[in-house]
Amino acid sequence: QSRDETVFLTVLHTNDHHGAYWQDKEGNNGLVNRFAMIERIRNEVAAQGGAVLLLDAGDVNTGTPESDLLLAEPDFKAMAKMGYDAMTVGNHEFDNTHDILQRQQGWAGFPFLSANIYNNKTSHRAFTPYAFFEKKGLKIGVLGLTSVDTRIVGSKAILANLDFRPHVSEARKVLAEMAKEKPDVVIALTHLGYYYDGKHGSSAPGDVELARELPPGSVDMIIGGHTHTAVCVGDKALDADWRKHADCKPDRQNGIWIMQALDSGRYLGRADFIWQKGQLTLKRYQLLPVVASTEAETPAVQALYTLLQGYKKHIDTQLSVPVGMFRQTFEGDRDVVRSQQTNMGQLIIAAQMDKTQADFGVISSGSIRSSISAGPVTYRDVLKVQPFGNSVTYVALTGKEIIDYLNVVAFKTAGSGAYAQFHNIAFDRDNGKVAHVTISGKPLEMDKTYRMSLPSYNATGGDGYPELNQHSGYVNTGYIDAEVLKSYIARKYPL
Ligand code: ATP
Ligand code: ZN
Repeated sequence: QSRDETVFLTVLHTNDHHGAYWQDKEGNNGLVNRFAMIERIRNEVAAQGGAVLLLDAGDVNTGTPESDLLLAEPDFKAMAKMGYDAMTVGNHEFDNTHDILQRQQGWAGFPFLSANIYNNKTSHRAFTPYAFFEKKGLKIGVLGLTSVDTRIVGSKAILANLDFRPHVSEARKVLAEMAKEKPDVVIALTHLGYYYDGKHGSSAPGDVELARELPPGSVDMIIGGHTHTAVCVGDKALDADWRKHADCKPDRQNGIWIMQALDSGRYLGRADFIWQKGQLTLKRYQLLPVVASTEAETPAVQALYTLLQGYKKHIDTQLSVPVGMFRQTFEGDRDVVRSQQTNMGQLIIAAQMDKTQADFGVISSGSIRSSISAGPVTYRDVLKVQPFGNSVTYVALTGKEIIDYLNVVAFKTAGSGAYAQFHNIAFDRDNGKVAHVTISGKPLEMDKTYRMSLPSYNATGGDGYPELNQHSGYVNTGYIDAEVLKSYIARKYPL
């Protein structure tokens, strides 16, 4: 772009969509409302002679049965129609096997970007690292980066052939390559997470640390995801009151803007820039709630509604069938289930033990994704609790092996997804070791063999659990966890 030109550039961004293609009960959120908003902004920006770039920072997959049962086909096909320019590969894009991700890439059409994921076998990058877009004569380079934590939080079996390399060094490499093409604007589209002041705790470093480590001026903005954050900063912390202002102040580190727009399509990030004399200046930044519009919809928006309604109707019939009935609420909310034993944890393990004739069972709490309230229980409810489609496995362990296993698994931090739920086993924790272990109320015998049930996710090392899938006593039943829970509820209700 010639330096004398002035260009208005509006970057619209979403992240962590998690299957939320359909609007909520109040008629808000969802891709139809999002598209209507985007179309209005496009018209407004076009009237001003400006250009719009539409980006998603990853985790389109996993979160609603309506989407999960259809492998996110509605979501990706809709995003194609909405004119998304690119997305980055999030950790949840690996909840399905690689061939499904390739099908999704086909439905989407726009590039799935990630510079730091490599194929172990070929040592080549597994995804397109970056792409260029021409908008009103501006050349915009977008590179993708994915959290190395994907290795820990994702399914080991699916990730077996992939290597998540440190994202900062990969970013430096591709930025040097991209610079040869002389882009006017460079955007890092990341699924790394936002941690205020770079305090990332036990998670991998995120966007703030990335901005601080990149060469100054090498990137204009980081558009992120993963932590589902509203990145609106106040004086000493994130601004908790951002909803009260019209505008949100994105973070800025080392001359690089950092932005993120919560999750599940509840908000659309809107950054209005002006490009002048080779300089990109942020004029205004907003996190706009995606609400039902009162204005007449364009034919394109109506067509999207028809497309998505078709998928929704088809799946609704399957999902609305009551499978049983609860007399009380079963607690699976993340704030509770990740720090204490709950009846939902017990129920899921009881179902898996029943299926495998196990003596006791374990599951990491992070894989329990919802509560179910008292009353009739539908298949939809069950799938919300266990959306990942893991299979139920079991393993024969001696008392001695159980102690070693518990000495790892029973000490996962409360509050983290790794925190374990147990059923039919009890113990004390003394100075970092378990003691007084009982199974079915009887003291554990060291050379006796017991059967433990667990999800394939944990058996293959998910959440940092010891890998058991190579153990001689390991059996993967192939039964899907949600199906097992559903049929247990159907047989045992009222619970
Ligand atoms: P994000 O949606 O932003 O990526 P996330 O789901 O990775 O977030 P959390 O909501 O904190 O992050 O959940 C992480 C936990 O989810 C893990 O600790 C693990 O217990 C569980 N989890 C993630 N993937 C799977 C999977 N494929 N199967 C079972 N459990 C999983
Ligand atoms: Zn997410």
